[in-house]
Amino acid sequence: MTYDVAIIGAGAIGCAVARELSRYDCKTVLIEKENDVAMGTTCANSAIIHAGYDPKPGTLMAKYNAEGNRMAGEICEELDVPFRRCGSFVLAFDENDMKTVRELFENGTANGVPGMEILSGDEVRKMEPHVSEECVGALFAPSAGIINPWGFALAMAEQAVLNGVELRLSFAVSKIEKEGGNFVITGKNGEKIAAKFIVNAAGVYSDDIANLIGDRSFTQNSSKGQYYILDKNQGELFDHVMFQCPGPLGKGILVSPTIHGNLMVGPDANPGSGKDNTATDRKGLDHVIAASRKTTTAVNFRECVRNFAGVRSEPSTHDFIIGFSGADDHFMNVAGIKSPGLSSSPAIAADVVKMLLEAGVPSGKKENFLRGRKPLRFKELSPEEKKAAIAENPAYGHVICRCETITEGEIIDALHGVIVPKTLDGIKRRCGAGMGRCQGGMCGPKVLGIIARELKIPPEEILQNRDGSFILTGKTGKGGDADVL
Ligand SMILES: Cc1cc2nc3c(=O)[nH]c(=O)nc-3n(C[C@H](O)[C@H](O)[C@H](O)COP(=O)(O)OP(=O)(O)OC[C@H]3O[C@@H](n4cnc5c(N)ncnc54)[C@H](O)[C@@H]3O)c2cc1C
Repeated sequence: MTYDVAIIGAGAIGCAVARELSRYDCKTVLIEKENDVAMGTTCANSAIIHAGYDPKPGTLMAKYNAEGNRMAGEICEELDVPFRRCGSFVLAFDENDMKTVRELFENGTANGVPGMEILSGDEVRKMEPHVSEECVGALFAPSAGIINPWGFALAMAEQAVLNGVELRLSFAVSKIEKEGGNFVITGKNGEKIAAKFIVNAAGVYSDDIANLIGDRSFTQNSSKGQYYILDKNQGELFDHVMFQCPGPLGKGILVSPTIHGNLMVGPDANPGSGKDNTATDRKGLDHVIAASRKTTTAVNFRECVRNFAGVRSEPSTHDFIIGFSGADDHFMNVAGIKSPGLSSSPAIAADVVKMLLEAGVPSGKKENFLRGRKPLRFKELSPEEKKAAIAENPAYGHVICRCETITEGEIIDALHGVIVPKTLDGIKRRCGAGMGRCQGGMCGPKVLGIIARELKIPPEEILQNRDGSFILTGKTGKGGDADVL
């Protein structure tokens, strides 16, 4: 069959476009090279829904950020995605920084950011007592928020699939040809997909995908950013997102609570680090610690539960690239989506779909657009609700992840959801098992056993994360299947 639209890349952008398109009677396929959605940059970033004062007025980043911020709040409400509009500060430490703070205020005003204020150092410390005495003032933006970024993309992808979008995972696009006016997209394993329109949302690889149709109008460099995630006893140090003034390499080192109750510190910037390079290193992490000391000396880095790195897209245009390609008017680039790409994704998607409909994609609106899901989060229930949940399904009474209090029932729900995870990290992204202090050291084998049992796959075939990340190498002893539960 020939699809009306093929979206390449299931990150925040591809998932948001798929969700928006699924409102219409058009045949859409969402293609992803990994074995799950949201495994690229969308999975590894600062998880901030930015207010919108950073981008220079007149850029596409400015156009989409503040509107995306507003829409993200609505989508999280609709799809029950964890999101807290906690507000952000940009801290100033001298008069030069205060000049930047005033410029950001001007940008924000021009970009339509609501409720901003410029505060004195003392006013900042009244709201955030752990901020350094050296801070002389700050920009405060109450509309910024913290989110679960992969949960956001997954929820949008699930709603799209519920409304008829086909999801093709483990399909790494390697060739795009034109046959009889349509695109024929070939995957690395030889599978083919035909489509009338392509949306190129391949993140840091978007320039490589554009090259497949001969579009060489932009290139993308990469810049790795590394982070600390600290245990929940550090999560209470700050209520707001604490930025320093931005510099030539981006927004600088932030200290921020996460939506899961931890504290995040980072990222550094490593231009030219490589599109696939998500390794962390001592030098970069030491820089993160040293730079964060300017904001606060209260963080105890010995409470680190995890380090990670995400790869920024650094487009040659220094702005988002959104529109039909000069090489083919049925091929749309949604490329160069650097920060604030997560925040902007809903607004970008709305515009992309408007452009597709204007270009001839079927525009009949579905009568029964399904609103989607509300996953049960056992630990958030009241004692009475917990009792009722266990009475209905005893698996909610069996805690598997002790750090995060995640029950067997929630893991089973995830395994029978709209987009079925087949990896330990897929379960972690959906219900949080393995996200706590021990990082799955205790519950990992049990989760593996539940995946094997529910999906009827041999335990040794279950992966940690990406293809090839096997956990078990084979059976020991002479018995049959190990009872991992
Ligand atoms: C360190 C860092 C911090 C950031 N912090 C923030 C923040 O706080 N707030 C914010 O708004 N933004 C932030 N961003 C930016 C934000 O994360 C990105 O703009 C956003 O995630 C980009 O989404 P995407 O869908 O374009 O890319 P991705 O999430 O990378 O998705 C692209 C997808 O395409 C797939 N793909 C690639 N090639 C192929 C192929 N050949 N075939 C099939 N599929 C393919 C990939 O596997 C991937 O899943 C940050 C980025 C970084 C790196």
